[in-house]
Order: sequence, then structure tokens, then C-alpha cells
Amino acid sequence: MMNTPLLLTQMIERAERYYPKKEIVSRTESGISRFTYKEMASRARRLASALEKLGVEEGDKVGTLAWNHHRHLEAYFAIPCSGAVLHTINIRLAPQHIIYIINHAEDKVLLIDSDILPLIERVKDQLTTVKAFVIMTDSDTLPETSLSPAYHYETILAEGDPHHPFRDDLDENAPAGMCYTSATTGNPKGVVYSHRGIVLHSMALGLADTTGVSEKDIALPVVPMFHVNAWGLPFAATWFGTSQVLPGPYFTPKLLAELMQEEKVTITAGVPTIWLGLLKELDENQYDLSSLRSILCGGSAAPLGMIKAFEEKHGIPFMHAYGMTETSPLATVTGEKSYMEEWGKEEKYNVKAKQGILVPGLEMRIIGKDGEVSWDGKEMGELTLRGPWIASEYYKDERTDEAFKDGWLYTGDVVTVDEEGFVKIVDRTKDLVKSGGEWISSVDLENALMAHESIFEAAVVAVPHPEWQERPVACVVLKEGDHQNTTKEEIYEFLKPQFAKWWLPDEILFFEEIPKTSVGKFLKRALRDQVKERVGQ
Ligand code: AMP
Repeated sequence: MMNTPLLLTQMIERAERYYPKKEIVSRTESGISRFTYKEMASRARRLASALEKLGVEEGDKVGTLAWNHHRHLEAYFAIPCSGAVLHTINIRLAPQHIIYIINHAEDKVLLIDSDILPLIERVKDQLTTVKAFVIMTDSDTLPETSLSPAYHYETILAEGDPHHPFRDDLDENAPAGMCYTSATTGNPKGVVYSHRGIVLHSMALGLADTTGVSEKDIALPVVPMFHVNAWGLPFAATWFGTSQVLPGPYFTPKLLAELMQEEKVTITAGVPTIWLGLLKELDENQYDLSSLRSILCGGSAAPLGMIKAFEEKHGIPFMHAYGMTETSPLATVTGEKSYMEEWGKEEKYNVKAKQGILVPGLEMRIIGKDGEVSWDGKEMGELTLRGPWIASEYYKDERTDEAFKDGWLYTGDVVTVDEEGFVKIVDRTKDLVKSGGEWISSVDLENALMAHESIFEAAVVAVPHPEWQERPVACVVLKEGDHQNTTKEEIYEFLKPQFAKWWLPDEILFFEEIPKTSVGKFLKRALRDQVKERVGQ
């Protein structure tokens, strides 16, 4: 067979040629605008030529600090298709981490949304490699800024070449993108995505038995484009000519529900906290979301109660997936087998609440204390993965050796796998509660708690215990209204029939809000500190 390179260039050129009329809907600070793929590609070519004028060369890193919108999508292709590297920067990280990753990646140019400018202005003197700042704004002029030299995105585009050729001579293993992921301790760790990895990952997103993204879809990624490339959706959607709806800087549940309704979105993607918010909105107000064929949920465990509520109450199919920055990210996804149709409802939901089955193209091993675990849904081990869209190292980072061993990525996630091959994430290795030498899954307790009708959110953390080493404590946010009267005792009564006695939390604490990470996951570190304070440790 021919050994032709797999390049991002082919994706955008396909959209340009075959789907010139299909649309990208973008909501920015001044409202909704619409672009065809033809316009998008020509703007991306203009941007590529403009970046070249700014001195960007093959292999250079170009950072983006931006929400999900059309300009960010243009950068997604203009940068890698000129041989440079798209470095998406998580704007919710602490300033010292943002400084670290820009300097560590050696970003030459930064593309910045105007509302994110103050963040970079505050740290500009500590950036050692940046030669130019390009400001993305709807305004006709460059906003006032202390960054220098600063360029107005639309002006450099207007001066750019709409026919600028994309590079078709790149090595498929050359870097196309990079993204940093938070570490438990220390600085974030960088992952570099190759053209080949992104193309193969996009192909996996299009498989009928995974997310099945296709031309007929209208895709709305809520997951930020600075978080693992919005799970690869912008790449796959462009390649397949899928319509894209990019929600921009504001994504309250109400705005999302309206956008989904108006644009007749068919598939959307985000973390559970987004879906908990949307669920509340759908419970309180009337929307027609009948176009939605799938809510793709990953990043942390989707509570069973939430899956049921979407499917049964609102008739919206729910798709649970698992992955990480290091895995591009799609690694496992819900995949009910045809013969499971016959199964009872509860049994089917139990499968749905698991993180799913390995995506074709990847390999997994689950390593317990005595080697590979048996596929019995009980024995726990660490999930290890390998495949063409799994990272092989951290970018210039000595922590590579901790996670990458013998050609496998050690994910740090403790899982079980059942007879059917469905993987269940039991915990992060660091989040398991170890009580008297036995493991308690915080995720299982959280799922059970969140199935209670009065509980909005729940997180379980370990607190040190003199006798048992660690014990679980539950942190609970109650829903509004009468639900606020729910007592600890009622919650215990609800949990008791579901768990062995020693699994029950030692304490149930009520919170107004659970602290979250920059990507909307429970921030267990901060929560543990708050809990320790409240239980007097
Ligand atoms: P990130 O690199 O920020 O995307 O975080 C990856 C981590 O999120 C994984 O290692 C898991 O611990 C967690 N994670 C991702 N998806 C899921 C899921 N569906 N259920 C439970 N945990 C998940």
C-alpha cells in the first residue's frame, strides 16, 4: 500500500472542496455570525500568510488564549497547516502556570481574545520568547493594550493572502498541536500531538460505534478548545463537513439550551458539571431539544442519576466517554452491544454509567498488583494504553519516566473491566479512599449520592483516620427550594441499602458549592483542605 502522509492540510482542503456551503455558527462578544467552510478556509489561508509575515516558521509554536469561536477554529488549521504548532493554552490556569507553559513551549506568537488580554498584560514581562501578540476581537480597531508589538487579527487577515498554499510536504509525525495538562504537584506537563495522531483520532471519532460524527451532524463543543482540542471535535467536524456551532465566551445553561434549540444541534460535548447545569435548566424551563441525538460526556464520571434523567425525562441519548490530554483524548466510549437490547433497563444503565469500551485502534492492559487483572468487573488495576493517538512522552519533561513505561502510557486511573470489556473508572490512584487496607471508590459513592432527588452535586474525599488510615467524607450541595430541608440522616438512609457499612461516609457535610478545577472537575485537593478544617483536623 502507499505510504502517504496523514496531514491536517487534507482535512481543511476536503471541507473547502466538498462542503464549501456548510456552515460554522460562531457566537462572540457581539453576537452570532455565520461562515461557510469556503470562507473559513480562505480566512485560515489569510491567517497562515499573516503569521508567515510575522516570522512564524516551521516548527515554531503559536499559542492561543481563546474561547470556542470561528477565529480559534481558523487558527486550528492555519497554524499546523503552515508547519507550525498550535499551542492551545488553558486560560483558567493560575498565572504562574500560564507563564510557565508559554515559556516552556517557547511560544513565538500569541493569539489572544480581547477579554483575556488583562491576563496576559499582567504577566507580559515574564514571557521570554513571545515576539508578537495578535488580538482577536469583533471591534474594528485594536483595543488599547500594553502588549507590544500588538496586531489586530482582522486587519492582518484583510492584508493576508486568501489563496496562500497550505503545506503538503510535511512529515505526518511532525508536531501539529500541543496542550498542557495539570499535574498533581509542580508545573503542568506538555503533550505534543502529531498530524498523524490527530488524523487517526478524528477518524476514530467518525466511527459509527464510537461518537459517529458525520456530515449530517450539527456539533456544539462546550468543552473548551483549550482543553485537549475540544476533544478533537473541531478537527473531525471540519474533515467530515459537519456543521459546527461554537458557543464563544458565554455558556450558561440557558444560553446553551437556546443555542442548541435554535441551531438544531445534534451532538454536543462537555464535562458532567455542564450537563448537571443544563439538566436543571431543562427541568425548570421549556425547550425543544429533539434534534439532539447525543450528549457526549467525559472528563469525570457521569453520575447514573444524571444519565437516567436526560434519557428518561428529556429523551436525550447520553454517551459516556473516557480519555485524557495524553490520549487525544478519546480512549473508551459507551458502546452497548446489539444483544444488550434484550437486557433489563437497570442492567443497561449500569453499562451506560461505565466509561465504555476501548475505541478501535487502541490497545489496553489493566495492571493489578499481580499482573494483568481478570475481566470480572471486580479486580482493580491501573489502566495502561497504547496506540497511534496516545502520547509517548511529556514535552521536555523528566516526569515522562513516571507515566510512560515499556511503550505504554500509565494513566494513573484505577479501573475494573467486566466480561464484556466495559471499563469502569474506580478512581484516580490518588483519589481512592484506603480504609483499613481496603479500597473505597469515591466515584461509586458520588454517583449514589447524586442519584438522590435532593442532591445537586456531591464529591467524596478521604480524610486521615487514626485507626483506618483514611475514611470517606461526603460533601453535598443540595438543590434549591424544599430540597434544602433534606437532612444528613435522610441521606444516610438512602445510602445504607446500597453499600457495605464500612463504605458509608463518616460524615456528610453540606456545601454551597464544590470547588472546581480549571476544566470544571471537582477540585479534590482544595476540597480535602476545606473538609479537614470543618471536621477539625
Ligand atoms: P484531562 O487530561 O484533564 O482530560 O484529565 C484526564 C483524567 O480525567 C483521566 O485520567 C481521568 O482521571 C478523568 N476522566 C476522564 N474521563 C472520565 C470519565 N468518563 N469518568 C471518570 N473519570 C474521567
